Amino acid sequence: VDAATVAAIAVEDAHLAHNYHPLPVVAARGDGAWVTDVEGKRYLDLLSAYSALNFGHGHPAILAVAREQLERLTLTSRAFHNDQLGPFAAALAALCGKDMVLPMNTGAEAVETGIKVARAWGYRVKGIPADSAEIIVADGNFHGRTTTIVGFSDDPDATSGFGPFTPGFVRVPFGDAAAIAAAITPHTAAVLIEPIQGEAGVIIPPDGYLSAVRDSCTANNVLFIADEIQSGLGRVGTTFACDREGIVPDVYLLGKALGGGILPLSAVVANSDVLGVIQPGQHGSTFGGNPLATAVGLRVVEMLQTGEFQTRAAALGEHLEAALEPLIGHGVVRFRIAGLWAGIDIDPAVGTGREIAEKLLARGVLAKDTHGQTIRIAPPLVVRATELDWAVEQLRVVLAG
Ligand code: PLP
Repeated sequence: VDAATVAAIAVEDAHLAHNYHPLPVVAARGDGAWVTDVEGKRYLDLLSAYSALNFGHGHPAILAVAREQLERLTLTSRAFHNDQLGPFAAALAALCGKDMVLPMNTGAEAVETGIKVARAWGYRVKGIPADSAEIIVADGNFHGRTTTIVGFSDDPDATSGFGPFTPGFVRVPFGDAAAIAAAITPHTAAVLIEPIQGEAGVIIPPDGYLSAVRDSCTANNVLFIADEIQSGLGRVGTTFACDREGIVPDVYLLGKALGGGILPLSAVVANSDVLGVIQPGQHGSTFGGNPLATAVGLRVVEMLQTGEFQTRAAALGEHLEAALEPLIGHGVVRFRIAGLWAGIDIDPAVGTGREIAEKLLARGVLAKDTHGQTIRIAPPLVVRATELDWAVEQLRVVLAG
């Protein structure tokens, strides 16, 4: 570690709130699946900014549209119309098989918006008595960091010392459709789940779970809200993780990769019988739907329309799965994989997830631990099979000590 890295980290330590514990690397450039640090060392990016960089660093098609829009018009607020927002909304709605979009910026904002929409729908359409709507969520969920959202988390780091929290949420075990069915009451407005839990360690529910949740929601006039902010937009080898079971939620929450890895862009996508409940003045965001973000977002949707990234994620995921298999019993206890998204549980005998991530860093691989013993792998979908092989070889060497 040279002086430039030490100095950059020192200034961050001195002046940034310590709400993260980053690995000791200071990125200066990115290109495709690779990042270069301030010392000129290169690293293969196996995190993709938590799937916000599904198309890699500096994808030429995304950069081109961003540059062009940057020169033309960047922000209007929603006080006025702009010429980028409509085409983006139409294309995104079509990608989702829905007809309406509510644009926001961050993932947490999309989740907050989804909660408001569900409650408004519950009162105005379903007829739930005022201020008594319930939303069912899952154990181990991660939907963002606002006070309402952390209030229904079961992670003590997320909740401790931040109460009081918003009422109206009921938590049940993840992957247990019967538990959701049992928790539904006449006051239930929505079920809000990640179809695959990302931050929890890429937890894939049992086959049939999403379909059974879909059926319970339909039978009880409850909205199925799928938080596809991390799982969606190509990551798992299909456009959405819900596609793996061929189900369509009532509401998609999207973010991260929607902004092309360039800027924050999130959205709530649903049909007008749901999103239509929101009237002027009831919700909004100064930057939500800005022309710079939505020009980028339209390009992202166009890139997903061809299916090429989904196909690539599926094929590379199979390749990665085969490469990881031999590590079981050699430092890996088990792993879960969906498309190009894996959670690898590290044997505590060889180290913590953090220790393994630090050793991978020293060998030129960027990966991040989650929940102690798990390493999450989510490379940009532009990564090559040979690069994945190289990364897995680095992991093998690190695990072998
Ligand atoms: N929902 C899910 C499933 C996520 O994984 C995340 C972020 O990791 C969020 C919501 C929150 O997104 P943001 O960090 O953009 O607020």
